[in-house]
Amino acid sequence: MFENLSERLGGVFDRLTKQGALSEDDVKTALREVRIALLEADVSLPVARDFIARVTKKATGAAVTKSITPGQQVVKIVHDELIATLRGEGDPGVLKIDNPPAPILMVGLQGSGKTTTTAKLAKRLKEREGKRVLMASLDTNRPAAMEQLAILGTQIGVDTLPIVKGEDPVAIAKRAKTQASLGGYDVYILDTAGRLHIDADLIAQAAAVRDVANPRETLLVVDGLTGQDAVNVATEFDDKIGVTGVILTRMDGDGRGGAALSMRAITGKPIRFVGLGEKTDALETFEAERVAGRILGMGDIVALVEKAQQTLEVEQAERMMKRFQKGQFNMNDLRGQLDQMMKMGGMQGVMGMMPGMGKMSKQAEAAGFDDKMLRRQVALINSMTKKERARPELLQASRKKRIAAGAGLEVAELNKLLKMHRQMADMMKTMGKKGVLKQAMAGMF
Ligand code: GDP
Repeated sequence: MFENLSERLGGVFDRLTKQGALSEDDVKTALREVRIALLEADVSLPVARDFIARVTKKATGAAVTKSITPGQQVVKIVHDELIATLRGEGDPGVLKIDNPPAPILMVGLQGSGKTTTTAKLAKRLKEREGKRVLMASLDTNRPAAMEQLAILGTQIGVDTLPIVKGEDPVAIAKRAKTQASLGGYDVYILDTAGRLHIDADLIAQAAAVRDVANPRETLLVVDGLTGQDAVNVATEFDDKIGVTGVILTRMDGDGRGGAALSMRAITGKPIRFVGLGEKTDALETFEAERVAGRILGMGDIVALVEKAQQTLEVEQAERMMKRFQKGQFNMNDLRGQLDQMMKMGGMQGVMGMMPGMGKMSKQAEAAGFDDKMLRRQVALINSMTKKERARPELLQASRKKRIAAGAGLEVAELNKLLKMHRQMADMMKTMGKKGVLKQAMAGMF
């Protein structure tokens, strides 16, 4: 979601950390480049300016420039300031939905992804929190939108309020409330009508629904690809309706991501979730630490772990993380990872989240690193003996030949696998040392 920005910053920081001694001017030059990168990512000018001012203040003192690792210190300061810029109060993934039935109001422009996000959220609440959820479409202008929600509801196994022709949005909201109380639902989500632009009608309608529903959360869905426009839309909705949080959609695209960085600073509203695809499970909590890590190109091991958690036994994951933390990463671990990757939707879904792989993913794709390759790699590992899997450093020419032949592949392919394994093992080791893995584990358990 932040590939371009991440790539740009990666370049700046690579140079900075390689430099050793740094003068204040070096730091300032680097931060000017950071500022340009932010603006190119469509971060709004005042936000970028303010951000750089804060970082400059902290990063140009003697404590940093005269330290042993000045480059790393600057990166750390940027990292911490990114978190400060992105973070709202409280836990982004936790919605105020005690006192059942709790109403959630979804607002936003047409095409922002509101209906899809309503379903994503319902699915999440049902599956992760065991909530009984009712969804209702209030989009009386577009019967197709009502049908769409009903279809999504069937797909994810969440009830939708039956459609009654000719009813107005306020009446639907009232009926949803009654149905939610009588039916013993924990949460009911009202998917309001959108328009192409904010207009008086849209606002009046949303306000009328808000007044009868008295929502615990009013979540604004905005298209992350629209950059600064997304921020303007949020400001306007918040002024007129009052929102408790923002959900940015289409963050899976190669958009510039700047909206995410400006959102909190300009609107004062926290981003709670991001949409990462069209499927109903493509919704992620927006966690400042994780996003900052992703922007700085550290990969996103927390997201990876969280996703793995759904497909993998927790104990197995725990064992795996402990081994990684100690810098142990043999062929069995790699095979486990590859198996997981296949379960988690193949290369595409996982690449951006692997440590260090974010930057490489484009090259990898170009080099034919796809799901077929995953299967070939698993075949190669399966062709190794137990001992070889545990200690891949044993693999000399004759063993390599045997293994490749066993999998019906060339030795060159095996060499590629070994190289990748070495790179990953190195990364795991560094990340283990930096405590990143430990943090990831803490988040997981
Ligand atoms: P609404 O008019 O605001 O209710 O928008 P919809 O929910 O109908 O979504 C419009 C289009 O955007 C649909 O094709 C969705 O599948 C797509 N969409 C929604 N959220 C995302 C997302 O996070 N990523 C991507 N790539 N597409 C999305």
